[in-house]
Amino acid sequence: MPVVPVVVAAVLVGLLVAPPLRGLIAYFAVPEGEPWCGACPLCGRVVRLLPPTGRCPGCRGRLGAGAGAVEAVTAAVAVAVACAADGPQTMALGWAGALGVALGFVDGRVHRLPHRLNLALLAGVAVLLTAAALAEGRPGVLLRCLLVALTVGALLEVAVQIGALGPGDSPLGLALGGLLGWYGWWVAIGGLVAAVVLAGLWATLRAAALLIRRRPWRGLDVPVGPFLLLGALTAVLAR
Ligand SMILES: [Zn+2]
Repeated sequence: MPVVPVVVAAVLVGLLVAPPLRGLIAYFAVPEGEPWCGACPLCGRVVRLLPPTGRCPGCRGRLGAGAGAVEAVTAAVAVAVACAADGPQTMALGWAGALGVALGFVDGRVHRLPHRLNLALLAGVAVLLTAAALAEGRPGVLLRCLLVALTVGALLEVAVQIGALGPGDSPLGLALGGLLGWYGWWVAIGGLVAAVVLAGLWATLRAAALLIRRRPWRGLDVPVGPFLLLGALTAVLAR
């Protein structure tokens, strides 16, 4: 695959898709128990799109992720999706990538995976995979997607019930399981293993940083959503 055009296209996609993703992140990144916030807390302006600076168009106050962060992550995900592209199911992968950026940033900031974002991810993946299966003339693959989705969703729901995960993690697992199911059971297992390894690495680094800076120990409280998303993408790339 030619590198330069792919990177240029990915940066363009990042810049085009990031403003509404920033709007979604600003809307949903509110702490548990507070109402969703579509307006700038500083000037009250309703925000749907945000520039790469991450500043409110009304008052120039900082809203959500720092300058360039969402754009850079979106561009990186676009490169990954382009590298993994090998058929009509890539549309579902792209949809999951875009909404995954929003979910990842929201979970990273407020440790929540809002059900409406999860539902949009699940619905989009279901519709696009169904269209891809029909386009390829192999509707049978949808049964495997469904079985993997239910298996991953149920596994994560057990973890939610024993308090190891947050309530948004199992619906996210359901959607990602469906997507990984297209590529096969082993890719889904790889995605889960990669998520656990990456989250473990992150937790270890965080713990080390706290120890080195001699900060008081208040637990690590690692958001799992970004690692489920990153694990899924890694598994699809490595298949
Ligand atoms: Zn403002």
